[in-house]
Amino acid sequence: MQPSYNSNYTATNAPVPEGTIIVERGVSAQEFAPKLNRTAADVIRFLLQNGEMVTATMTLTDEQMELFALEVGAEVLLVEPGQQEELELQAMFDDSDDDDESLQAPRAPVITVMGHVDHGKTTLLDRIRHANVVAGEAGGITQHIGAYMVERDGGNVTFIDTPGHAAFTKMRARGAQVTDIVVLVVAADDGVMPQTVEAINHAKAADVPIVVAVNKIDKDNADPGRVLSQLAEYELVPEAWGGDTIVVEMSAQQNVGVDELLEQLLAVAEVEELTANPTGRAKGIVLEANLDTGRGPVATVLVDKGTLKVGDPIVAGGSWGRVRALIDDKGNQVKEAGPSMPVQVLGLQSVPNAGDEFRAADNEKTAKTVGEAREQRQRLKAQRGDARVQKGVKLEDIFSQIQAGEVATLNIVLKADVQGSLEAVTEALRRLERDEVKLAFVHRAVGGITENDISLAATTNATLIGFNVRPDRKARDLAEAEHVEVRTYEIIYKLLEDIERAMVGMLAPEFEEVVTGEAEVREIFRVPRIGAIAGCIVRSGQITRGSKVRFLRDGTIIWKGAIQSLKRFKDDAREVREGFECGVGLSDFQDLKPGDLIETFEEREVARV
Ligand code: GDP
Repeated sequence: MQPSYNSNYTATNAPVPEGTIIVERGVSAQEFAPKLNRTAADVIRFLLQNGEMVTATMTLTDEQMELFALEVGAEVLLVEPGQQEELELQAMFDDSDDDDESLQAPRAPVITVMGHVDHGKTTLLDRIRHANVVAGEAGGITQHIGAYMVERDGGNVTFIDTPGHAAFTKMRARGAQVTDIVVLVVAADDGVMPQTVEAINHAKAADVPIVVAVNKIDKDNADPGRVLSQLAEYELVPEAWGGDTIVVEMSAQQNVGVDELLEQLLAVAEVEELTANPTGRAKGIVLEANLDTGRGPVATVLVDKGTLKVGDPIVAGGSWGRVRALIDDKGNQVKEAGPSMPVQVLGLQSVPNAGDEFRAADNEKTAKTVGEAREQRQRLKAQRGDARVQKGVKLEDIFSQIQAGEVATLNIVLKADVQGSLEAVTEALRRLERDEVKLAFVHRAVGGITENDISLAATTNATLIGFNVRPDRKARDLAEAEHVEVRTYEIIYKLLEDIERAMVGMLAPEFEEVVTGEAEVREIFRVPRIGAIAGCIVRSGQITRGSKVRFLRDGTIIWKGAIQSLKRFKDDAREVREGFECGVGLSDFQDLKPGDLIETFEEREVARV
């Protein structure tokens, strides 16, 4: 039978090896050919005759390898790189002991503190952390390693140090669930606010029990009863009202009720029967990781089961190494870490991702093979991703491409303020997809628009869409230099309308926003009868009274409105320029904090072309 491809090339005349030849995916012609007793030139020539241009070092596709194997009469089995070792590593973890009660020991619950901004999450975490430091120990200073553990008579409790749901959702997005219990902080004077509701939804979606901490009960205008009835609307009915939600009234600032909260958390842990087998090889999750100039890659991990020891070979995501040192949350070197105990691991060869799983391996060779294979897979995937998205077109060109009868792919880097809106915007955009217009999300994440996002959009020819988030100054400059289109929205419907218009060739921004000034909040002053004033320094441009303004925290829009009052020292000012300090009146928005940014902007009409 005549093969359907062109085969009139002359191969090297050696016989091919007999039997099944195992070939790892992702190899190039020069790696592939020798396994079949052929040369890279053979492979290249053959593929060329079949209309495919490859070079000796380019990765071959499955089809290319199979086609060539067929041609030379070899039988190949394509496997994922490191697959064999990967299976060995999995097999080392015999989960059959999980059901053996005699091996299980109680473990500390892992807590994430969530709630609306300014309701006291950080204060609570600091309060608990410091109460845990024995006077005199290491000067009473604790290390911020991403999590810490407090010791109580009734057991230990581990706290994730990053409050809020960003960290929580980031982990969940990677399939890792580290949190056992969510502490929902609600300020008694402010009640249930948008981020409170988001936190409730996140915890519910993850099926994690919620313990409510009604905070700031020391305040005169505290109204815990109102908080409780608000919470009841979200199916969080307090025990006192016949429900099953544990509620602790407290003041993080005055250290009231904090002990009780810890007791309650231990009680929940007991009810939830949080146990783990502390013996054997360790496995767990990477909480955070970074490259330390002095110490190399440093990862904070939380052990799920087993005990991690100094000297253990480990694999963490696509990174591997041997544990050189373990450092606990008080900065002490420790020899081992058991379940729920956060430790920093030194000795990895590269930086893993937050949310990656780690496992201790039998020997360094397995760790190395698996780690390197995974790393290679990740790289390949990224490359393939790049290849796929290279064809992206700009928003404004999309219509001409459709008209030319081609399928237009609009590459998008999407950033949003919270996970919920990220999902909502993605969903909505997906619904706009048509046969002739495809959307490819190059990157989707929660948070302000950074330089990284811009460079990613630049390399993938993507349009950057921000929802309730803004680019910082560096990102803005880079976007301009790289000609990356950044479109920010606060209303989904406006966003969709723009994209739809682009699809029918009607995209012409009628208004363009121009940032006119940027100021950084240094301090908040409370002035009787007037309210809060933000003491700021103007970082660029000028701040003008009456101008439209956005307040940003970490690139996320937290409020929009107009500047009501502007002062230079005690005097009213009409305008304050770069480098000068000023006071900005906060009318109905009181939640600014030092470090927040104030961005003023104008909308300018842009002529249609
Ligand atoms: P976060 O944004 O939720 O982390 O809130 P913070 O912990 O930063 O607290 C916001 C503000 O509320 C700070 O000025 C705290 O000092 C204050 N605060 C926190 N807890 C209490 C409390 O129990 N009582 C009072 N009166 N103020 C508190």
